[in-house]
Amino acid sequence: LPQVVIIGRPNVGKSTLFNRLVGKKLALVDDQPGVTRDRRKGVAGLAGLEFEAVDTAGWEDEDDRSLPGRMRAQTQVSLKDADAALFVIDSRADLTPLDEEIGQWLREQNVPVVLIANKAEGRSGQSGILEAYSLGLGEPIPVSAEHGEGIADLYTALFPLIGDKAEQLELEAEQAAAIAADKARALAEAGEDLEELDPKAPLSLAIVGRPNAGKSTLVNRLLDEDRMLTGPEAGITRDSIAVDWVWTDPKSGEDRVIKLIDTAGMRKRAKVVDKLEKLSVADGLHAVDYAEVVVLLLDATRGLEVQDLKIASRVIEEGRALMIAINKWDIAEDPSGLFNGIRAALEEGLAQLRGVPLFAVSAMTGKGLDTMLGAAFELREQWSRRVPTAALNRWFDDALGKNPPPAPGGRRIKLRYITQVGTRPPRFVIFGTRLDALPTSYERYLLNGIRKALDFGAVPVRLTLKSPK
Ligand code: GDP
Repeated sequence: LPQVVIIGRPNVGKSTLFNRLVGKKLALVDDQPGVTRDRRKGVAGLAGLEFEAVDTAGWEDEDDRSLPGRMRAQTQVSLKDADAALFVIDSRADLTPLDEEIGQWLREQNVPVVLIANKAEGRSGQSGILEAYSLGLGEPIPVSAEHGEGIADLYTALFPLIGDKAEQLELEAEQAAAIAADKARALAEAGEDLEELDPKAPLSLAIVGRPNAGKSTLVNRLLDEDRMLTGPEAGITRDSIAVDWVWTDPKSGEDRVIKLIDTAGMRKRAKVVDKLEKLSVADGLHAVDYAEVVVLLLDATRGLEVQDLKIASRVIEEGRALMIAINKWDIAEDPSGLFNGIRAALEEGLAQLRGVPLFAVSAMTGKGLDTMLGAAFELREQWSRRVPTAALNRWFDDALGKNPPPAPGGRRIKLRYITQVGTRPPRFVIFGTRLDALPTSYERYLLNGIRKALDFGAVPVRLTLKSPK
């Protein structure tokens, strides 16, 4: 809360005003000057705007002809934290040298002051009020703390001075609340949409690649097995095409449904006019949005090209599980050299492509396709995986212990906890404070840690940092 300090020479009615503002008899009041000995604080407020009132009555000395050292020291301390001061004078008495001394001192402080002419009930107040202008602290507000008069005027004068601070504090409280809400939401989400994947559920698969990589040939090869559930013609629209077919996993002998999404090959099969064939790469990537796993098909006779890397990054950015298949293996020269070369290029290239599963296939002969499809199901499981909370926290504590967050410019960055808020792709949120100052290198450290230590391989992992500011 904003702090408002009540200041004035002894016996002007500071404690009475304090009691009036706070509404409780917190300060001891007596006609004898200097009767209140301790600093009193209490919450005061009107119309939703609250502040903490501080009564400085206890700091006075009996001697009201001077500004005693003790009072000055204490008042100075309290004024340091203050957002405004209420300077109280007695409107029924003439200004005293002490009033003037306090007024002079307050003018030198960097705190807004509201001048309160107390004891202004009835007429006797008037002369003192006029005289009070001479303090150079603006218009005196006539108040009767004892009779509760003029209090509304006091608030009117005070609120513009502390309103900003109050608003800012409210904002901060809101932000803190937002974090708490985020946490609650995250936890709810974690419980809600992270249900385990049924490994036997149909797999949505998209095949992408540069023209001539062999996509059509591959799709035809897969579908020509005469195991289609729905003909492509049935589902063809410009925006969504999917064909369900059954793949028998030779390893387990079990049937799996694969939903093949919107590929050029399917269009060809459906005898869709030529211009659809000439879709740009970007357009072809439309299928990626609907896929769980995306196979990027390379041409063994051409190797890994820049365009392939662009497509690959796009797939990862979209949060899909990516695998790369080198097609036309049947006509590859120096196959193992090619394979290792591409593997190395992926490791050294974009960080996000490190560890992407790589396969050698031939759409023509069918070589490697079963292995690739089996891996696609496994990749989907990884992509859909939920890390048990205990394991996640263990990793988090360990990662922070090994390499604590830096303190750039001496600002301490606190990472409080981590939670997995989603799967497919796996999404994590780390809550903390001052995260805006966290270097990207440290963020990368955490992200790589999640991927490696929690066994997500090359599956894209999302990490969000949340802090109040
Ligand atoms: P798309 O543009 O990616 O759909 O490529 P296509 O499927 O039309 O294939 C382009 C060319 O590569 C065609 O001549 C295919 O016959 C040939 N092709 C595709 N896959 C293979 C393969 O595995 N081995 C060989 N030798 N040729 C292939």
